[in-house]
Amino acid sequence: MKAESFEKIVDHALADRQLQVALDRGTTRGVNARLLAMSETTDAQALRHQARLARERALNQLPELLEQLERNIIANGGHVLWARDAAELNQHVLTICRQHNVRRVVKGKSMVTEETALNHALEQEGIDVVESDLGEYIIQLAGETPSHIVFPMLHKTKEATAQLLHDKLGMPLTDQPEAMTRFVRGVMRQKYLQADLGISGVNFAIAETGTIATVENEGNNRLSISAPPVHVAVMGLEKVIATWEDYAVLVQLLARSATGQRMTVYNNLISGPRRPDEPDGPEAFYLIILDNGRSRILASEYAESLACIRCGACLNACPVYQNIGGHAYGWVYPGPIGSIITPLLRGPLTAPKLPYASSLCGACQAACPVEINIPDMLLKLRRDLVQAGDPSLGWRLGMKGWAVAFKSPMLYRLGGRIAGWLTRVLARGKGHLRWLPPPFNGWTAHRDFPAFGTPSFRERYLRRFKGQPHDSKKP
Ligand code: SF4
Repeated sequence: MKAESFEKIVDHALADRQLQVALDRGTTRGVNARLLAMSETTDAQALRHQARLARERALNQLPELLEQLERNIIANGGHVLWARDAAELNQHVLTICRQHNVRRVVKGKSMVTEETALNHALEQEGIDVVESDLGEYIIQLAGETPSHIVFPMLHKTKEATAQLLHDKLGMPLTDQPEAMTRFVRGVMRQKYLQADLGISGVNFAIAETGTIATVENEGNNRLSISAPPVHVAVMGLEKVIATWEDYAVLVQLLARSATGQRMTVYNNLISGPRRPDEPDGPEAFYLIILDNGRSRILASEYAESLACIRCGACLNACPVYQNIGGHAYGWVYPGPIGSIITPLLRGPLTAPKLPYASSLCGACQAACPVEINIPDMLLKLRRDLVQAGDPSLGWRLGMKGWAVAFKSPMLYRLGGRIAGWLTRVLARGKGHLRWLPPPFNGWTAHRDFPAFGTPSFRERYLRRFKGQPHDSKKP
């Protein structure tokens, strides 16, 4: 799926009744759970601010922290590899697989491996890779891609999931999520025991002790990490943080913002391979740190986007995401933060529609646990697109005409009168239009357009305050 075909995918998404039901259920649940969990904190705003400072501290000293992280992991007996891009990360994993004669891999949830299409690279080399996160496993069975950072199968209803498990694995049909989970757990147990290597993502990497943290609710990540003899963790370089104090703040906000929990059920902390006195754990531990455009972002005015802790709260809160779902964004990272990260990582002209996929209502920023100013960055990306010459000739001429009209009171008045008359004629007394001619038909393709009222706001304003001093003209 390509970000370039955004409008076409949006049309399909809006017409897909099952998707609309799934989105409504999933995002409503996500928003309500987060609001409740945040309301339980003594001072949610102060906590968010602390989290923001922790992320800023990390980004401001990123090279030093990454080197500290590397030193400490090596001192703990692990290996650290650096990947400039997706291909290099996949190559590192394949080399590790060859070194350890790996044929079967279990993989916990990781957006970075989605970014590098690691599954595909492994499968091409004949290595069997199974997603261990329940949602990711179902998505893998369906041959689809995740549509949400935290809930990869948010686009699927439980009814569709039951049918899929019935068709692919012979599960007796049920509408009980618990029964489906139990069934998949039985299938997955053998996979962990047979795997030669486990892959995990990283939620935070704590530099001062060389520890990676992964949070989860199913225990699948813990099994993926500890059952196979080799563990490979992959992270974007922005995931490093300075101290355990920072971790303590961020981890509670991540859980509250992502799933509405005070704390996730499993909080895995890994500082290296199994030690001689430990009963279990992998014999070898590798951490691969991916750049893939992140250091370029760090040096730009969009560095703030690297503060993201991938909680998904902005997706749930966004009225655009709530209606079109994650696949419409065309790549790994959907929603408001995806509309920023995708053009930044892949180049603005690869996804020119995404910065416009927002009403700039600010719901994303209000939901964000690290106070990222998403609307501001979306506006800056729109500016970059205009400067890069992306808008069509029609768009540019239209904006120029608009600017001329808005600078001239006479033209503004005249334009308002003509538009008002035209919309009232076309509405034929119904108060709204079902259809507008091109290029305005994008609006009426999905909603009515209200006819302009009469008298206009401007006329009413002037009538009411005519003759009064300027500073008392309050509508
Ligand atoms: S931008 Fe903020 S709300 Fe959105 S996923 Fe990142 S941390 Fe969460």
